[in-house]
Amino acid sequence: MEYLFDKPVQGSIGVQPYKITIAWRNGSFVSDEPVKSGGQDLGPDPYTLLLSSLASCTLATLRMYIDRKDWKIADMEVNVNMYQTILSGNMETTIDRDIKFISPVTEEQRKRLNNIAANCPVSKILQGDIKVRTFTQSDADIEKKLKYANDDIAVVWKPELCKHSARCVSGLPKVFDVNAKPWINVDGANADKIAEQVSKCPTGALSYEVIKETGK
Ligand code: SF4
Repeated sequence: MEYLFDKPVQGSIGVQPYKITIAWRNGSFVSDEPVKSGGQDLGPDPYTLLLSSLASCTLATLRMYIDRKDWKIADMEVNVNMYQTILSGNMETTIDRDIKFISPVTEEQRKRLNNIAANCPVSKILQGDIKVRTFTQSDADIEKKLKYANDDIAVVWKPELCKHSARCVSGLPKVFDVNAKPWINVDGANADKIAEQVSKCPTGALSYEVIKETGK
């Protein structure tokens, strides 16, 4: 199992309703709720972010396909909206996506591009089998630490934060082996390699301290 991103998308909130800071790999932005829902509309609300994801994936996928085909189709727009209905006690969500080609397209191109858009990666996620797993932790969890060290590096493992990924095991099996005791063997690779792998731990369960600098 390999996560899509080395660094997860991180949201954080303080006491101001409902201003959320979203940190992503290259910066951050603010999300908020509209005034009618108690926020200040300082940024897109969660539903808007969901629809934005579909809009941007649709247009990027179309641009890739059009460029590969060398078709002369310049500007495009997409409008995405959604509604929800309760059917037999279950919430059903319908998302409508309207694509507008500003440049002329043939009927054949339009049909082909409709099909390409319908199968963009985010469309597939939204229409596929999604699981959202939720884990919780508090500051108290972070108290427990185990340390594995040699003369070059010390790896610190916080077991309560190690919940849902075997990235370290698949990335550096000679160091991280759940069947071995201890499960972290800091002599299984050089310190640089271990540090590189540790920094990919998605939950913060692993960290390291360099004891002495090693060459690459
Ligand atoms: S230490 Fe990090 S990378 Fe390794 S299994 Fe735990 S959460 Fe996953």
